[in-house]
Amino acid sequence: MAKIIDGKAIAAQIKEEVKNGVEKLAAQGHTVTLAVIQVGEDPASCVYVRNKKKTCAQLGIQSISHELAEDISEEGLLALIGELNQKPEVDGILVQLPLPAHISEKRVIAAIDPKKDVDGFHPYNCGALMTGEKGFLPGTPAGIIQLLKRSGIGIDGKECVVVGRSNIVGKPMAQLLLMENATVTVAHSHTRNLAQVTRRADILIVAVGKPKMITGEYVKPGAVVIDVGIHRMENQKLCGDVDFDDVSETAGAITPVPGGVGPMTIAMLMANCLESRRMRL
Ligand code: NDP
Repeated sequence: MAKIIDGKAIAAQIKEEVKNGVEKLAAQGHTVTLAVIQVGEDPASCVYVRNKKKTCAQLGIQSISHELAEDISEEGLLALIGELNQKPEVDGILVQLPLPAHISEKRVIAAIDPKKDVDGFHPYNCGALMTGEKGFLPGTPAGIIQLLKRSGIGIDGKECVVVGRSNIVGKPMAQLLLMENATVTVAHSHTRNLAQVTRRADILIVAVGKPKMITGEYVKPGAVVIDVGIHRMENQKLCGDVDFDDVSETAGAITPVPGGVGPMTIAMLMANCLESRRMRL
């Protein structure tokens, strides 16, 4: 049976470190502030936003909520972002995605001051990641690097396969693994013989958005398997992109869903908010 990589426990460590950092700044009279913008009332977005605000409160980070009507115009949203960019007390601006179809996510992300882009989605921060400059890293892939390191799993020289090439998970994940000196393969929906490719991996990272797609036959015995997917099944339980029960028989270590990658994403967002305040002192 595979060892379980406990994302909840590792995220708790990181959050404790952030909380200590926030307290130190508070003692010097500085508050860390995250502005959270939600457009409409998509149920999944409501859950994510609630969790982020709750975590802010636990760590002593001030969150300012902007709940906007579903039919707000793109100009209206851009104007709000413009105001928040100008406010010196705001360290991070988070726009919960997805946005309604009439608003361009690209334009909205590009409007955020890169120095307040704590989600790490702005083209400036994406570019910084590519060239190895300092910038905000997106929470999910940065969290996965922390999960691996803090579990004592070496990355240097390993064969890593990332399944999925989205801008928020797959691509930045591949780049971060490359920076850690892994040999990286990125697979996607046009990849031929996917199982043959994934079976090369010492570390397999799965972000396909398909419930339980990755079964034991995709995994080399002893490999580390990181499951990014989150899906709610008909019985209301959560599952990942990996068939946990089947893959646990083959893998050496595996992240569960829930309690794997998910908690790390929020923890890294909080770390970015703290870092943003430190940078503007
Ligand atoms: P996207 O839908 O943006 O990307 C999915 C990727 O998987 C695409 O690159 C696609 O390829 C590839 N893909 C789809 N089907 C196959 C297939 N049959 N074989 C190989 N590759 C395939 O998803 P995201 O990256 O945004 O998210 C992935 C999953 O992670 C989702 O379940 C999402 O909910 C979850 N998630 C979890 C987070 C967390 O905090 N735990 C954070 C973000 C996401 P192509 O490019 O060719 O279309």
